[in-house]
Amino acid sequence: VIYMKDIVKSYKMGKNTLTVLKGISIKIEKGEFVAVLGPSGSGKSTLMNIIGCIDVADSGEYILSGQNIKAKNEDELAYIRNKEIGFIFQKFNLLSKYTAEHNVAFPLLLRGVEKKAAQEKARKVLEDVGLGDRIDHKPLELSGGQQQRVSVARALVGNPNILLADEPTGALDTKTGNEILDMFVELNNKGNTIVMITHDLEVAKRAGRIINVIDGEIVD
Ligand code: ATP
Ligand code: MG
Repeated sequence: VIYMKDIVKSYKMGKNTLTVLKGISIKIEKGEFVAVLGPSGSGKSTLMNIIGCIDVADSGEYILSGQNIKAKNEDELAYIRNKEIGFIFQKFNLLSKYTAEHNVAFPLLLRGVEKKAAQEKARKVLEDVGLGDRIDHKPLELSGGQQQRVSVARALVGNPNILLADEPTGALDTKTGNEILDMFVELNNKGNTIVMITHDLEVAKRAGRIINVIDGEIVD
């Protein structure tokens, strides 16, 4: 599903250029659960943004589900992003004014799905993540672990090919974090492809495979 070859990414800071990814090559197959492990500042979020088509590499090749990402314009990238990727963030990024149901239905409504159908699908996915009895709660009326479950439901609702999670347990205590990781393992067993970014070896060990990034390069 994900194929990257010699991906290089730099940030320009005035006169200086900071090369953050120094030739990253990875291959992630459909149905894998992969952790991208590395210390702070190693380039993990930069890599995640490129995998998720939020940002593009300066050079190198990126093929996502058979599509050559380099050749795409902004609109095409947005389309691919919506179709292929479900994002999960450390800080949940939920809309605080809206209920769990509306947060999960929102991406479908943006895509023009009819309201009733979107709500029905949202309720079903919330049930799948164990929140069938919390659909009318707003984010601040939910625990941290429950908020992260809502954001997992939101990521799942459009049936993406890949779940992309950046430090999904970073804002949670160990026990709650483990519940989210249990859910990832379960989702993976059902066939979901998951790419999880983390700086925590114990978290990474829950994945089927670890890709170790240090200072913008993959090490074994
Ligand atoms: P963390 O574990 O702390 O989240 P990370 O591995 O995700 O770290 P990145 O966010 O990818 O690291 O950042 C890698 C390097 O790139 C850092 O040194 C950072 O300062 C730099 N960097 C990131 N984004 C930008 C930007 N927009 N402009 C300039 N430099 C940036
Ligand atoms: Mg980061």
